[in-house]
Amino acid sequence: MEKEDKIYVAGHRGMVGSAICRRLAKDGFANVVTRTHAELDLMDPAAVRRFYAEEKPDVAVIAAAKVGGIGANSAGNAVFLYENEMIAMNTVMGAFEAGVKRLLFLGSTCIYPRMAPQPIPESALLTSPLEKTNEGYALAKISGLKLCEFLRRDKGVTYHSLMPTNLYGPGDNYDVVGGHVLPTMIRKFETARLNRDPVVNLWGSGTPLREFLHVDDLAAACVFLLKMDNPPDLVNVGSGREVTIRTLAEMVKAATGCKAQIAWDRSKPDGTPRKLCDTTLIRSLGWKPEIDLEEGIRRTVECYRAELAAGNIRV
Ligand code: GDP
Repeated sequence: MEKEDKIYVAGHRGMVGSAICRRLAKDGFANVVTRTHAELDLMDPAAVRRFYAEEKPDVAVIAAAKVGGIGANSAGNAVFLYENEMIAMNTVMGAFEAGVKRLLFLGSTCIYPRMAPQPIPESALLTSPLEKTNEGYALAKISGLKLCEFLRRDKGVTYHSLMPTNLYGPGDNYDVVGGHVLPTMIRKFETARLNRDPVVNLWGSGTPLREFLHVDDLAAACVFLLKMDNPPDLVNVGSGREVTIRTLAEMVKAATGCKAQIAWDRSKPDGTPRKLCDTTLIRSLGWKPEIDLEEGIRRTVECYRAELAAGNIRV
C-alpha cells in the first residue's frame, strides 16, 4: 500500500473502522473513501458494484459487520449469518470485479472451533465444531476469509484476512443486552456508581477466560499488514494476555470507582470456556500491542464518560 493509494474503509463509523481511519490519517494515508450505511447498503450487491465502479479504490479494508455480544449472537444466529455473509460476499467479490488489487478482510477469533487448542493457532481453522452461541457470525466470517484466500490463490490479487480477539475502545456499543462483555461492564458499573446501586448483575459463572485488545492496537496491526508486500492469508491479532471474566469485572469496577457488590446470574450463558489466540505469527512479522489492559480500560472509561456527557453513546 502506497501513500497516494485510494483506500476504501467499509464500516468507518464502527469502533474498528473509525480506529483504522484514525490510524491511516496518523500515518499519512490521506486518500480515504467512506460511505455511511444510509449512502450505501452493503447487503445490496448491485449498489456495492456501482460504488466500486464509481470510486475505483486501490485498496479496500472490510471492517463492516453486524456484531454483538453473546446475548445478541445466541438469540440471532440466523440474522448474524445472513447479514455478515451478504456483507462479506458483496464487499469482497465486488472489489475483485472492480479491479481492486488489495483487500484486508476483518473477522474474529470466534471463527475457530470451540475446543481449539489454546492459544489458538491459525491452523486450527475448520478442524472441529464451532461454538454454538456465535456459530452464524463465525460461518459468515469463515466464508469471507475463504473467498479472499481463493481469489488470492486463483486470481493473483493480494486479498488477506486478520482475526482480532475480543476488542474494546472508543466508540464501542454499550447495549447492555446485546453488547460485548467489556463495554457492558463499563456501562453497568458506571450506572451503578452514579445511581449508588448496591449490586451489579453480571452473566454466567465468571470463570471463562477471555483475551482483550484495544482497538487502536488492532488498527496499528491492520496498517502494518497492509504495508507488507506478501502478508499471510490469515493472521491472528491479540494481546496475548487472558483474564477471567471475574478478574475483568474487578478491573472495570476499580477503573470506574464503583463500590457495588457483584452478583453472577448463572442462568445466562458462559459461552466458550477459553479464547486466547496464538499471536506468534504476527509477532514474528514485527508487530506487538502497546496498550495494556488496565490502561486501556481507564482510557475507555474516560471515553465512555465523554460520550455520555455529549449524549452520543451507541447502543
Ligand atoms: P464472547 O466472548 O463471544 O463469548 O462474547 P462477550 O463479549 O459477550 O463475552 C461473554 C462472556 O462474558 C461470557 O462468559 C459471559 O457469561 C460473560 N459476561 C459476564 N457478564 C456479562 C454481561 O453483562 N454481558 C455480556 N455480554 N457478557 C457477560
